[in-house]
Amino acid sequence: MTDKQAHVLIAGAGPTGLFSAVALAKQGIQVSVFEALPDRALDLRASTIHPPTMEMLDSLGVMPQLLAQGLQSPYWQFRDRRTGPIAVFDLSLLKDEVRFPFRLQCEQFKVTAALLAELQKYPHASIQFNARAKGVAQSGTSVTLVLDQQGEEVRVTGDYLIAADGAGSAVRKALGIEFEGFTYPERFLLVSTPFEFKDVMPDLSVSNYISDPEEWLVMLRVQDFWRVLFPTREGESDAQVMEESNLQHRMASISPAAPGPFSIAHKTLYAVYQRVASSYRAQRVMLVGDAAHINNPLGGMGMNGGIHDAMNLADKLAQVCRGADPALLDLYSRQRRAVALDYVQQWTHRNREILREADPAVRQKNQDELKKIASDPALAYPYLRKTSMMASLDLARSIS
Ligand SMILES: Cc1cc2nc3c(=O)[nH]c(=O)nc-3n(C[C@H](O)[C@H](O)[C@H](O)COP(=O)(O)OP(=O)(O)OC[C@H]3O[C@@H](n4cnc5c(N)ncnc54)[C@H](O)[C@@H]3O)c2cc1C
Repeated sequence: MTDKQAHVLIAGAGPTGLFSAVALAKQGIQVSVFEALPDRALDLRASTIHPPTMEMLDSLGVMPQLLAQGLQSPYWQFRDRRTGPIAVFDLSLLKDEVRFPFRLQCEQFKVTAALLAELQKYPHASIQFNARAKGVAQSGTSVTLVLDQQGEEVRVTGDYLIAADGAGSAVRKALGIEFEGFTYPERFLLVSTPFEFKDVMPDLSVSNYISDPEEWLVMLRVQDFWRVLFPTREGESDAQVMEESNLQHRMASISPAAPGPFSIAHKTLYAVYQRVASSYRAQRVMLVGDAAHINNPLGGMGMNGGIHDAMNLADKLAQVCRGADPALLDLYSRQRRAVALDYVQQWTHRNREILREADPAVRQKNQDELKKIASDPALAYPYLRKTSMMASLDLARSIS
């Protein structure tokens, strides 16, 4: 098969589907994206982009737009909700190894907008909205995606299919691939406000992880808002969590100096999972992003990891389309599944445990350790390579 003949179908136009599409189109491969919604999702979930992911986005030409629409976070900090800052991590320590030695705080919908605009520059790329994947059939030579297009069943055939249709992936389910793992008991509430928290908490960084045995917080600044993430309490119903008085009470409890009532721009409640698909490949179909793995958002590894999947897969799939051994696609599955299981799941679960730790002796030990790491560049450098997911790419490369 040559790259001129190859045709790759992609289910889902989230960040990982669109990244895969642009990365393949850039290599001359015909791509067709099918998205269930009538338009691109205006998704607020992700906002943290790590340094290696920015290099991948830059390789597709979209970083100038994202830099213009994001906030650079050269530091991130770990705080105690009752006593204040514990450790401030300086990402400039990575400057000799990466071109973007900071986190970029830029919402997911800006990432998908930039990727979609890029995709539309390629005449051999297309996107269809209102096209919901519902089934798959494959033979030794092709794959057929069965779509529901506004009540009508449509079948499209290509050489390969990338399932980027999110955590509830219809493609993964149609293939009978298990999504192994668990659901956390609490949900995460995300609230955005234009209120400037720095006026009352001047020592905040752009990204802040705030531990507390009763209610931890994550506070992230984006261009127009502070985004605050809270865990729900035991026994709280969704309706109770979303009640205006409850939201105001939670926001006011962040700082006694904040005047309130808060203007609330967005509020969303998310169920939180740790799950990984039992395989990322079934013959001519590969899973990427949330369709392949889902994790709690503490540390910002879901979309970043999904883009790393898409980068890894696009490189191998382009080679296969040009005649390389399809066994490369199994290598994709092995490398990226190991990252999800042995790295992303471990770090994100650990982040939750540290934030919510209730034992005072363990809290103290955690805080002492983080302080020690942040204040010693020899310790902070490898730690930042891990939290920035650079070490996850080393792990993938080490797997053959
Ligand atoms: C509160 C919160 C905060 C987060 N913050 C971060 C962060 O800071 N950094 C980070 O890296 N990650 C973060 N994440 C995780 C991140 O949002 C996801 O990992 C990311 O959206 C995954 O991208 P995706 O393209 O794989 O899937 P999705 O974004 O879910 O996109 C899937 C697309 O497929 C479409 N679709 C669904 N079903 C079908 C179908 N049957 N047929 C066709 N199309 C379909 C959907 O409409 C959607 O457009 C966060 C998650 C949450 C909940």
